[in-house]
Amino acid sequence: MSDDHKLYHADAIVIRSREFGESDRLITLFSRERGRIEAVAKGARKPKSRQRAGVQLFTYADYLIYRGRNLDTVNQVSPKESFPHLWANLEQTLSAAGMAELLEHATIVHQPQGELFTLTITCFYLLEQMSPSLLLAAYALRLTTVLGIIPVLDCCVVCGSRLEASLERYIFDVSAGGAVCLHCRSGSRHLSLRAGSLAFMRRLLISDLRQLDRLRCPAWMLQEILDTLQAFCEHTFEKPLKSWKIGNRMIAAKE
Ligand SMILES: [Zn+2]
Repeated sequence: MSDDHKLYHADAIVIRSREFGESDRLITLFSRERGRIEAVAKGARKPKSRQRAGVQLFTYADYLIYRGRNLDTVNQVSPKESFPHLWANLEQTLSAAGMAELLEHATIVHQPQGELFTLTITCFYLLEQMSPSLLLAAYALRLTTVLGIIPVLDCCVVCGSRLEASLERYIFDVSAGGAVCLHCRSGSRHLSLRAGSLAFMRRLLISDLRQLDRLRCPAWMLQEILDTLQAFCEHTFEKPLKSWKIGNRMIAAKE
């Protein structure tokens, strides 16, 4: 194979960046064309490195990558957007980190997911003007929709019957993947959701992301929704969502 064939372009965002070796960084990219990619940016931690701008978390850039036998290597970076607002306050940073972490856990290396790329980059832009925690909840619901593993919210996930009307609280069964009726409460991981929270999650599923700021969601409701989505996603993708945990504690502290 000639060297030309070993080089490829990736229109991508950095969803994880960590120190690697003496002066390198190992970055996880999510690209429009190839889904998730791991690559080493050699010397990126050196002060004069031209790749420094391309390895910061959340950066959107065009990458030229060299396909290695074991690890791919970043050859060139042309930054497009650094999203400075994502670093403006902790809630925004944690929301973007929560999206990036979930995206990493939910996807497989080199499997194209163009819709998830568009969703993520749209949400990174929208974080400048929207409630970060509300947008994170909407992002998680949209991601599960794209992947076809959407939580069942409008009927019992086990027996399919209609949920009892006018209850104050409903039960979400994490392992079954949705709300359950009174007769089907047998799973091991149950979360209790107030009726308003369940109804709001259904609204979030169909709402236009750009108009989320029209929805009113009190902090306790957002907390319940994020707790439910976190438990559901952690169970589904079998990995803990560390940044979500910190973010959820922040909302709780605000109440
Ligand atoms: Zn049932």
